[in-house]
Amino acid sequence: MIEKMLEKIKQAKSIVIIGHVTPDGDCLGCQFGLKEIIKDTFNKKEVYAIGEESQTLAYMGKLDTVSDKVVKESLVILVDLANMERAADKRYNTGVDLIKIDHHFNSEEVGSLCYVDCNVSACAEIIARIAIENDLVVSADAATSLLTGIITDSGGFRYTGVSNETFKITAFLLERGADIVELNKKIAMVSYNELKIKGYVIENMKVTDTGFAYCVITKKTMEEYHVIYEEASNAVNSLANIYGYPVWALILEKGSEYRIRLRSNGPRIDLLANKYGGGGHKLASGCRIYNLKEVYQFSADADEVVREYKRKEA
Ligand code: AMP
Repeated sequence: MIEKMLEKIKQAKSIVIIGHVTPDGDCLGCQFGLKEIIKDTFNKKEVYAIGEESQTLAYMGKLDTVSDKVVKESLVILVDLANMERAADKRYNTGVDLIKIDHHFNSEEVGSLCYVDCNVSACAEIIARIAIENDLVVSADAATSLLTGIITDSGGFRYTGVSNETFKITAFLLERGADIVELNKKIAMVSYNELKIKGYVIENMKVTDTGFAYCVITKKTMEEYHVIYEEASNAVNSLANIYGYPVWALILEKGSEYRIRLRSNGPRIDLLANKYGGGGHKLASGCRIYNLKEVYQFSADADEVVREYKRKEA
């Protein structure tokens, strides 16, 4: 599979790399890292990373803008994208060929080649592994992008999927020039307002009887705290790791809907997200609701997930 993928990359006139909407460090890390690796390995190839920018991750670089014609003439590579509905550029299906690299459980099978490994915590780990096993050129910038993906999606090497291979790959990326201290500093920095909204989340969290903790942040609250959506959404783990509350969520108003960022440190929550039309990983998922009244049903369902988990654990 990887051999065929590399052959397609080698043969392509140009390449367009697309991730998901509201990109995180892993998505952008894969886009920038893979772009750099392909450019450096296959000389003179035109490679573009397109999609959505992230203001809070702007330090990672700027995405490209490309015409429809360029996409049509390109091999499109999807990274860190489970379901096509969340593609950050809807032209993904208009290229000469489509391949996908992902790490989500229940990832949609699309394209002529689809490489999914849901055992790793970050998609960047797969790209780094492909680069190592195939002697691709990994510059310091590419290593930095990929390590950003690994650190952010693994919660700093703390989540399921972190393995001895993660550390071997990390060692390789450090050898190639990624500066883990600088990177961690950048990842950890928050604005004054972002810190304040974290305070709001802790102060205003609600809990259910059995152990689901959540907080709703409306657009009005974001305005009051002078934070953009991304800064508010970064507060999700302010509700993490409370004894007795193994499932938590941040519910954020966005446009005409509410995005639910759902997290767990025990019970499986992807099935709950599926019930609301979303998905993700067993312990980190997301979905949407369309009005605040649905929060009651959602929290009751989340409470039930916790109840079932605690019953089995008892
Ligand atoms: P997030 O809370 O945005 O970090 O998302 C956590 C995980 O859930 C990621 O792996 C996402 O791909 C996935 N996810 C988030 N929102 C959705 C959605 N609406 N549909 C499917 N998967 C989602």
